[in-house]
Amino acid sequence: MPKLNENYQNLKQSYLFSEIAHRVAAYTASHPDKRIIRLGIGDVTLPLTSHAIQGLHAGVDAMAEAATFKGYGPEQGYGFLRDAISAYYANNKVAVDPDDIFISDGAKSDTGNISELFSADNTILIPDPVYPVYVDSNLMSGKKITYLSGNADNQFLPMPDSAVHADIIYLCSPNNPTGSVYSKAQLTEWVRYALENQAVILFDSAYEAFITDPELPRSIYTIEGSKKCAIEFCSLSKTAGFTGTRCGYTVVPKELTFPAFDGREMSLHAMWNRRQSTKFNGTSYIIQKGAQAVFSPEGMAQCQENIRYYQHNARLIADALRKKNIRFFGGIHSPYIWFECPNNMESWEFFDYLLNHAQIVGTPGAGFGENGTRYFRLTAFGTHENTEEAMERFEKLF
Ligand SMILES: *Cc1c(COP(=O)(O)O)cnc(C)c1O
Repeated sequence: MPKLNENYQNLKQSYLFSEIAHRVAAYTASHPDKRIIRLGIGDVTLPLTSHAIQGLHAGVDAMAEAATFKGYGPEQGYGFLRDAISAYYANNKVAVDPDDIFISDGAKSDTGNISELFSADNTILIPDPVYPVYVDSNLMSGKKITYLSGNADNQFLPMPDSAVHADIIYLCSPNNPTGSVYSKAQLTEWVRYALENQAVILFDSAYEAFITDPELPRSIYTIEGSKKCAIEFCSLSKTAGFTGTRCGYTVVPKELTFPAFDGREMSLHAMWNRRQSTKFNGTSYIIQKGAQAVFSPEGMAQCQENIRYYQHNARLIADALRKKNIRFFGGIHSPYIWFECPNNMESWEFFDYLLNHAQIVGTPGAGFGENGTRYFRLTAFGTHENTEEAMERFEKLF
C-alpha cells in the first residue's frame, strides 16, 4: 500500500470557483430571463494580437520543413526568446542577463515548483490575501507558513517587521487580488530586510505590464542589491493574453548563492537549472516563436493596446465605487479592483446580494485568505459594454 503525502490533507478545499459556478447555475435556473454579467474572471478575454499570431504561424511553418524542424529544445528556453526578454527588461532600464532567464509554460508552475529548492525548516512569509498558489504549494510539501497581514491600514502592502526573522518571502506586485502596487521605497525596504536576514524574495510580477506610472517598479531588479536576494517570476498570460497559449519566465540571478550546512556554496541558479532540466523539457518552440513576437516593439505596442482596453474597464468600475463612496484598492495599475463589502457584509453574503440584485458575478475575497473575508474582487477583463452596464446596475444598489 502506498504511504500517501498526507500534507494534502492540510490543504483547504479549493471550492472558490466551483462554488461560484454552482451558485450562478442555481440562480440562472430559477431566473432564466435575467442577464448575468461576469466580472469575476481572472482570465483575459481579448484574442491574441496579430503580431503574436504571426509569430506562432512562423513557428508552425518551421516545423513543416526538415531544414527548420525542431525537436527537443534547450530546457532553459531558446536564446532568441531569452535575448528578447532581456531587451524588454533593458527597455524598462533593468539589466537582466539572458543567461539568468528560464522560459517556462507559465508563472503558476514556476511559483509552485520553486519551493522544491528549499528545505522544510524555513520561515516562510506569505501575504494574506494573495494568489493561493504560494500557500498551497508550500503546504503540499509540508512546509509551515507565516502570514503577512495585508489590510486597509497598510493599503494591502504589508511591510517587513525587523523584529521577525524570515528566510523566504513571497511578494506579488501588482497584487492579485488587491491590485495594490509596492513603491520603490517600499521594495527597497524589503530588499534591505532580505539582505539583512539572508533571505530570498520570490517576486511575482505577472501584472507588471499594467503599471503606467514610471515611478512604480515593474521589476524587483530596479532595486539595488536585489540580485543578491530575489527571484522574479513573470508571464505572458496577462501581458499578452497567453493564459491559454502558455508561456512564462523566471529570473534566477547567478549572484544568488547560499552556504550549505557543510559550508559549501550552493547556487539557486544551478539548482533551478538542474530541477528544470530533470523535470521539464522546455516550452514548445511554436509558443516561444509567438512569445518572441510579443517582445518586438510592434508586438508590445499591440499588447499595450489590449491592456488599455482593460484599463478603461477598471476606470469604469473605480468611478462607480467612488460614486457609491466605497473605498477601494487597485484598479489603476492592475486589472483588479478590491473593496470592502458594503453594509458590513461578509464576502459570500455580498456575492449573493450582487448576483440577486444586479446579476453581477464577482469574486468573494474569502477565496484569497482570512483577510479577504469582508472584501470583494471585481475584474476589468470583461467587455466595455458589459462593464458599463454592470456599473449602471451597481450604482442603483443600496
Ligand atoms: C495570472 C497569474 C499568474 C500567471 O500564471 P500563468 O501560469 O503564467 O498563467 C501568476 N501570478 C499571479 C498572481 C497571477 O494572478
